[in-house]
Amino acid sequence: MARIIVGFEGSCPQSEQGVRQEGENRFRIFPSWRPSPGISEEAVGHSTRLGLKLVNESQADETLALLIDWQCDEAPPDMPRGFSPSTYMSYRDFVVVREPGHEAWRTVMGDVEGSVAEFELNIPPGETEVHWHPPYTYTQSEAFVDSLRAHPLVQVEQIGKSEEGRNLPLLTITDSGKREKTRVLIVSRYHAYESASSYAIEGMVQWLLSEDPWAIAALRCYVFYIVPMANPDGVVNGMGRLTAPQGADLIMSSTAQDRAHRVLWEMVDRVKPQLCIGLHNWQNKHSDGLLGLEPHLRNRFLKFMPDQVEFGKQWHIREPRPISSTRPQRELMGEYCRREFGAQGVGLEFPWFGRTPDDVRETGRKTIWALFRALDEPSPGAWLYDPPEKFTLSSYWEMGGDGTG
Ligand SMILES: [Zn+2]
Repeated sequence: MARIIVGFEGSCPQSEQGVRQEGENRFRIFPSWRPSPGISEEAVGHSTRLGLKLVNESQADETLALLIDWQCDEAPPDMPRGFSPSTYMSYRDFVVVREPGHEAWRTVMGDVEGSVAEFELNIPPGETEVHWHPPYTYTQSEAFVDSLRAHPLVQVEQIGKSEEGRNLPLLTITDSGKREKTRVLIVSRYHAYESASSYAIEGMVQWLLSEDPWAIAALRCYVFYIVPMANPDGVVNGMGRLTAPQGADLIMSSTAQDRAHRVLWEMVDRVKPQLCIGLHNWQNKHSDGLLGLEPHLRNRFLKFMPDQVEFGKQWHIREPRPISSTRPQRELMGEYCRREFGAQGVGLEFPWFGRTPDDVRETGRKTIWALFRALDEPSPGAWLYDPPEKFTLSSYWEMGGDGTG
């Protein structure tokens, strides 16, 4: 007979109270179980997280029924961002499974009825891990940061600790040139479940440190401030979006009291970024998100990074919102940087379905390459008359954005 393990790093639910055995090899899982009542994506029926282990201690394969009860029929009436329960469940008809001795995640499709997605799994002896999306843990992030400590182009700074005492490192990446450089902030994993953003930031950092001439050129003109995991507490404790069941939404200027939030936003005020890039991971299957980028830059970006049709994705574009001159009670970090520092802001969303972790790393590499092509490339033919160095990020803005003065 198989059994279920939860309560490990990044599992969801975090407690056996979120697991119910309904028969031999038949288990019902409640991904929106939280240790205390939650709000936002931690509320009942709003969860965006799932992770557990199946243990088969026998010598032969076992067949097992897994009923993932997302409880959206019990959700408070305000589904986030206009989701209907049927839309919410249409993104939950699959899980990814990693069998013992395997590196890769295999997708298994299930049958959805109401709030429940049911999966029949054949599990070999040993420990099989099941998630909604391929996970990326705090331990993985720490190992990634450690792998960069000795790199001559990377400075690792501990900017503070999270509410529960986990590390909040900031990577600074640039070359040793003394010229004045444009400041770029990239923040990943504001939101706990968004593991694709972690693979994307790995791809971006790998590109910045690569031998690609465009990357070498970028480090001459820009200094990159990178937060690889803004929300370690939420990541470890199986949250969806926030740092705790009623915790902080780190991307918002005003939110619940939380140490990671204070540390992150103090860093932003110190860095004063001129470009603010936020990495996210929508739940849907078909749309990558390109949010808040000014149209002139966006059009150029899309030339270099069109729809990723190879993964079944099309860009969903959201215009930048007008910025008020006075500080509103609550705003997104990108909007705060636009208003306070005259920055450009962009949010990128990379949903999983149809992508492997390596695909998402590659998507990260391609995105940062395309973004900096969009920023560097003068308008058609202009480089014939003006040296390309003139066309830095700040000169674009000074010239009203289209590079033609
Ligand atoms: Zn997000």
